[in-house]
Amino acid sequence: MQSIQAAHSDVREGKRQRHRLYMARLLILNMAIESAELALFAIAGTIPVSIAVLFLAVGFAVSSGFYLVFRLGLNLRFKQKNLLIPQLLVFGGIQIVFMFLAPKLSILFLLVLVVLSGYAAIEFNPRQYTIGWLVYGAATALAMILLGDRFDYPGHADMEVGLVWLFFFMTLRSLTLANASFSRLREKLLEKNRQLEQSLHRIEDMANRDYLTGVHNRRHFMSLLEMELQRSARSGRAFCLVMLDLDWFKAINDRFGHPVGDVVLQRLCLLAGDNLRAVDQVGRIGGEEFAILLPDASLDSGYTTIDRLRAAVHAYDWQQVADGLQVSFSAGVAAYGAGDSVHMMIKRADDALYEAKHAGRNRVQQAGAMQEAQGRPDPEQLEQLEPGRVNQAS
Ligand code: GH3
Ligand code: MG
Ligand code: MG
Repeated sequence: MQSIQAAHSDVREGKRQRHRLYMARLLILNMAIESAELALFAIAGTIPVSIAVLFLAVGFAVSSGFYLVFRLGLNLRFKQKNLLIPQLLVFGGIQIVFMFLAPKLSILFLLVLVVLSGYAAIEFNPRQYTIGWLVYGAATALAMILLGDRFDYPGHADMEVGLVWLFFFMTLRSLTLANASFSRLREKLLEKNRQLEQSLHRIEDMANRDYLTGVHNRRHFMSLLEMELQRSARSGRAFCLVMLDLDWFKAINDRFGHPVGDVVLQRLCLLAGDNLRAVDQVGRIGGEEFAILLPDASLDSGYTTIDRLRAAVHAYDWQQVADGLQVSFSAGVAAYGAGDSVHMMIKRADDALYEAKHAGRNRVQQAGAMQEAQGRPDPEQLEQLEPGRVNQAS
């Protein structure tokens, strides 16, 4: 059976081969246009008709030959599957040979070499391009030396001057070769960028979430809290911070087993999702300790919200999870006050949680209001704000 990766690379290779076929068709078209222009020069009497016919025959044979090679997939046997070097050598070679057969059009054949170089400039790396440049440079120098004074201008008749313009004009058009190549590169780059952005979002999301419950992890919750605090410091808008700790969780683990404990944590978060607003943010900041951010909530409405969640958790049919299981939590709610800091809010909410535990658990306690004179707590005190403090104390 084929692996998914192999299937993907097959799809990519299929796309590349289709693009090569497209480029080969463009080359046939370019040779056909150049042949038509040579035919017009034959009509104008600048070159013999036989030369125009020969160019048509050679151009068609060579360009359709390459097309056939791509069509049959013969190019896939080579390391450089777009066969760019052989194509540049053959098509460039044709132009140089025809400088001798139609010396009056020499300057126009040189123009075509410029277009081919444009294609090479996009596909090659700088070193390869320099080599290509020198090869074309040497070949044209040799051709011009050998041509000597046969090197000529098409002529001054109106039609000839018009045809020179037409040739130039159509040569610009044949830059579609370079354009097609470049467009593809740009598309590929955009696609890669899109994929990269998606991966980045996924990774960011993974880095911000708690693996067990899917809520924000401690680090991310803290940054959300910091942002909310700064917003409120500017706007004076109310918000609440809640510290929440499951009651007797160790006993639940001991009696029902760790996997049941894990399910309890997950269900708690689902219940929080059901009972809180979309703007409220839940974070798991320790084993069975959570913090909740309630934007635009006063102390009273924050208290009401969390007490409703508490009642919902208490009333939940935990029998579904394990026979005889009963779950509750205790929580402390602190409201933002002017001059507050993250650490001061955490400490007040934590103290309230501690009180709720002592008052018998399965309850929500409001924290006292922020005291402006309180200032910053000393660093040693902050150390004790790490998760686990409430449980260690109780
Ligand atoms: P209290 O009411 O005072 O909070 O009592 P408690 O038993 O909940 O407090 P304690 O801090 O003693 O117990 C917390 C327990 O949480 C201990 C630990 O085994 C458990 N715990 C921590 N993280 C996880 C977890 O990811 N999964 C499970 N199943 N249990 C966990
Ligand atoms: Mg606990
Ligand atoms: Mg705890």
